[in-house]
Amino acid sequence: MELPFAEPYKIKAVEPLRRSTREEREQWIKEAKYNLFNLPSEQVFIDLLTDSGTGAMSDQQWSEMMLGDESYAGSASYFKLKKVIGELLGMPYFVPTHQGRAAENLLFSAMIKAGDLVPGNAHFDTTKGHIEFRRATAVDCTIAEAADTNLDHPFKGNIDLHKLEEGFKNNPKDKIPLCIITVTCNTLGGQPVSMQNIREVSALCKSYGIPVFFDAARFAENAYFIREREAAYASHSIKEIVREMYDQVDGATMSSKKDAIVNIGGFLACRDKELFDKISMYCILYEGYLTYGGLAGRDLAAMARGLEEGCDYDYLEARIGQVAYLGKLLKEYGVPFQEPTGGHAVFVDAKKVLPHIPKEEYQAQTLAIELYLEGGVRAVEIGALLADRDPETRENRYPALELVRLAIPRRVYTNNHMAFVAACLGNIYARHEKITRGFRITKEAPIMRHFTVELERAT
Ligand SMILES: *Cc1c(COP(=O)(O)O)cnc(C)c1O
Repeated sequence: MELPFAEPYKIKAVEPLRRSTREEREQWIKEAKYNLFNLPSEQVFIDLLTDSGTGAMSDQQWSEMMLGDESYAGSASYFKLKKVIGELLGMPYFVPTHQGRAAENLLFSAMIKAGDLVPGNAHFDTTKGHIEFRRATAVDCTIAEAADTNLDHPFKGNIDLHKLEEGFKNNPKDKIPLCIITVTCNTLGGQPVSMQNIREVSALCKSYGIPVFFDAARFAENAYFIREREAAYASHSIKEIVREMYDQVDGATMSSKKDAIVNIGGFLACRDKELFDKISMYCILYEGYLTYGGLAGRDLAAMARGLEEGCDYDYLEARIGQVAYLGKLLKEYGVPFQEPTGGHAVFVDAKKVLPHIPKEEYQAQTLAIELYLEGGVRAVEIGALLADRDPETRENRYPALELVRLAIPRRVYTNNHMAFVAACLGNIYARHEKITRGFRITKEAPIMRHFTVELERAT
């Protein structure tokens, strides 16, 4: 008999979870103005809001916390991290930042001006926010296959080279400061980008003299998918693939709260000394001195260790296997979701679960609220609320997909928790025809509204 899969770790510390009744949850979500971000975590049973900063650190990472050197300048923990970034990613220059969006802020402060175009594959919301805040435009060049949630394509995060080159041909070079490849592509469902595509995008950009950067939050998960799905890499180690990925780009912004498995932190890495000098100025202005960048020494030390652990094959197999397991259970219940499952999350297709709800009443948000009411499971809307308004016309933008993201924290929940979540969605799907009304906005912020939006039931 072939032995079943089992996690390559055991649990040393446990954190109790509180269950609640449906009546309590009805009250709490109403008080939260139907915005799941407003819920205190005690009111949540299984929290799949995000996999960002929610992972469980290893005993080795916790020991690194104790070894952290809190010197203002030249901390030993900084040099530990510098060594890992140099060896693992091959990047000669880097600054730590307090998280990924801070790295974006530094990079874009140095590179982007008003009126610029920044092509990429479905830019992440903070990336887009930082681009639009500078009155520049994020141009989505993802392959068309990404929008078909039923299509089983191994690399739905890929960039359409034709779309990309059209942009290069039709615009002056000084309007396109950089191209961003997001690995894996969060917005599209944690879908990976193939090594071949990374190489081709890099070569095309090079021929037009345009720098390429990774939005690297989930680079290790992307490397795992390359190993599993791209024949030429089946016998490569994750570290070899990671290095080859980074060899194709000029730099990267990193949210270490993802694949570096820390609770806070990020960095910006690059090859060009002149760019690094510019970034350094902004780093000191916005984050802190260059050897700590808004973090404690212990955070840098835990991050160095986390980068190594995040690239461990056994860990990645368990991690991505758990995401696939949740997908398998949902399939058994007939719940439609984006296939194949991505690296960090399952994205439920809310348009198919709740087809009777008009898009103006926020289908994905409606499903996320139903899921909370059903079992105290917190997920997040990736739909019209997140897509926000057009910065010029102020009209609502309705994206092609209305998704509910079930993001799975790293090394935190067991497969029994996944079974619970799947059953909640199974129940909702079984009664989906009875859910016919969604929500209306009562209050929203001018940019990145989904975090603070307030809603009421549509009548
Ligand atoms: C999380 C994330 C970011 C932003 O990082 P923060 O640490 O949350 O600021 C940027 N891009 C991608 C792809 C991400 O997943």
